[in-house]
Amino acid sequence: MGILDGLNEEQKQAVITTEGYIRVIAGAGSGKTRALTNRFAYLVNELGISTSNILCVTFTNKAANEMKKRIRTMIGDNDTGYISTFHGFCVQVLKEEIHVLNYPKNFIIIDTEDVNSILHTIFEDMGLNSRNYTFPTLIEMITARKSREPYLNDILNTNHDELKSKFHDARNQEDAIFYRYLYEQKKCFALDFDDLINFVLYIYENHEDIRLKWQQKLEYIMVDEFQDVNVRQYKLAQILSDYHHNLFIVGDPDQTIYSWRGARVEYILNFDTDYPSAKTITMDKNYRSTPNIVNASNSLITKNKKRIEKNLVPMKQVDIPVIYSHSKTTLMEAEWIATQIKTLQESGRSLREIAILYRAHFISRSFEEIFIKENIPYTIYSGIEFYKRKEIKDVLCYLRMIVNADDISFTRIVNLPKRNIGERRMAFLKEYAEKNNCSLYMALQSNMEEEILKKTQAKAFIALVEKYKTIYEEMKLSELLSGVLNASGYEALLRTNGEQDRLDNLAELKQSIFEYERDAGEECSLPDYLNRISLYTNLDQKESTEAVQLMTIHNAKGLEFPYVFVCGLNEGIFPSKHVDTTDKMEEERRLAYVAYTRAGNALFLSDSEGVNYDGSYRYPSRFIFNVEKAYLNYTVELEERLVGDTYFYIDQNERKLDGSNQRLKVDDMIRHSVFGKGKIVGLNEEISSYVIQFDNMETTRSISFKIHLEYLEG
Ligand code: ATP
Ligand code: MG
Repeated sequence: MGILDGLNEEQKQAVITTEGYIRVIAGAGSGKTRALTNRFAYLVNELGISTSNILCVTFTNKAANEMKKRIRTMIGDNDTGYISTFHGFCVQVLKEEIHVLNYPKNFIIIDTEDVNSILHTIFEDMGLNSRNYTFPTLIEMITARKSREPYLNDILNTNHDELKSKFHDARNQEDAIFYRYLYEQKKCFALDFDDLINFVLYIYENHEDIRLKWQQKLEYIMVDEFQDVNVRQYKLAQILSDYHHNLFIVGDPDQTIYSWRGARVEYILNFDTDYPSAKTITMDKNYRSTPNIVNASNSLITKNKKRIEKNLVPMKQVDIPVIYSHSKTTLMEAEWIATQIKTLQESGRSLREIAILYRAHFISRSFEEIFIKENIPYTIYSGIEFYKRKEIKDVLCYLRMIVNADDISFTRIVNLPKRNIGERRMAFLKEYAEKNNCSLYMALQSNMEEEILKKTQAKAFIALVEKYKTIYEEMKLSELLSGVLNASGYEALLRTNGEQDRLDNLAELKQSIFEYERDAGEECSLPDYLNRISLYTNLDQKESTEAVQLMTIHNAKGLEFPYVFVCGLNEGIFPSKHVDTTDKMEEERRLAYVAYTRAGNALFLSDSEGVNYDGSYRYPSRFIFNVEKAYLNYTVELEERLVGDTYFYIDQNERKLDGSNQRLKVDDMIRHSVFGKGKIVGLNEEISSYVIQFDNMETTRSISFKIHLEYLEG
């Protein structure tokens, strides 16, 4: 089949308009990704462009892998060039260029787990505890500072001692933690996820020759899911396309779901202002979903006020209603879903065609219990991601020791299994390393004969690392892994402890390494492998098994499944109780839109009564009532009282949202639902409250901006 066959007119335009700035804006399931994929094949097959001159960016590794597979079949070549996420692309650039920053090619990439262990070290050294800070808030702080401060100057243009004095002389604790973190990172040449793109931008901005090299190399650049790019990703796309001026972007503003992480829908909306020559292509046929699913999703998303109206016409003919089921308990909701799945199975559908989507990880638990009981195989694509599980991480740290011998890995595994290197001896090593400006591993090596290390198995540990250091380049990865598992005693430790789950996970890791060896061809060295998986999430696990797929909606972005269950549709869960502004509520509704539009043949919505963790009652979600009833088939009618209460609750909640957006001012007269009439006499921004003098109270009260206050007069 030709590349253009089976595409509609707009898609063909998108494929053959190869030159210049092109933007495709279109709704869910309208064939954007398909157009982008075929465009790649067109460039290669019809125009003779080399795959190494095309950059194609997608949002998840899973989407990138799927795209690679499709493109491989179309171009009949295994070499697909740069099809990856922004992170993945940056790793490739850094592998070639990071030496200009005096970093080694084998720099390490650290994930949240590693960041946590660095923070752990910092906490210990600074004598902090969880009362002072929590790790998530610190990670947020670090990310935020990295996005606004020229911190790379601190990392790159200061030596160890200068960086050290930055945290020793810090003005406050937050600064101290931040610089201390940078110091720990630099010590082991470790880059976290934020650094990847920042380092690349820094190199491009400061090394014109390198920038030009990449600009010239990448003749065509394409980006999927453009509605969710952040400022740095946009900048990278802009820089890279600034030589050949070929940038093709695709997206759906209604599917922006990463604003909370800095995504800005404006970049796709204002693309034609930034590039006045840009051509815009719209697509309005939906090929994925049945008319009821398309209509239900459309009717939901039109409830957002800040959006551009789009028309989406369903192409599928067969139609069954979207089903909504309300249950009395979470257990019953899970049982209902299990029953539906069994029915689908009996009618000959494969479990792989079924996905269960939810707002937050914790929802999966009740389903897992029922699925185990009912013998329904399932795979979870979230929770603790595969490569972040303890045992996997431990083993990867062993492998990292062989390549980098960095402090993070060392701290994690030197005493695992026990080698008698406990706190006291670690403190000794740290002190030595600090004094001599060396790594902990080197500290251990240099002091092996010291009294304090006599009664440990330090020698055996060093022998292990050194042995594999000299031979790993000649070994197959799978052999290396088995060797290390054996020689370290790690596998034996799990066996002794009877940790079957963890052993199963190790078996899975071995399997994945086999597959990697088979597929990777030449790029199969240990450092390559380590770099690659540090970008991985569980989303990339293999999918061959016959199992229902469970995942959060964020993880389902860009994917499609014939049968989709969206569960836990309750106020306080979805929308999440953390939503406190109209903008956030609109993002939440877009998330529901993404969820509903993943379905091809049938969509099932469900909720259940009960109480949330904070004690609030679980009403059915507004995202059910936002869908016109004509498109929904209720399995049971809701009780009138419940509907009444729910509407009342939602109404109150919406007012609160508006309240937090539309602010009152000093001297306004208001009415509080309990305290009655009063006058705003001040604002307390620190605690986001009005100071109000109520008519029947002697003293003022501070009332949160979030509470709805009826405006009487100004
Ligand atoms: P999303 O916004 O969810 O990312 P999308 O716009 O990227 O969706 P695709 O995933 O490309 O949509 O396509 C949706 C489905 O429609 C896929 O199964 C695809 O194979 C199919 N499809 C796309 N274009 C056509 C077409 N012209 N004819 C028939 N089927 C098509
Ligand atoms: Mg898509």
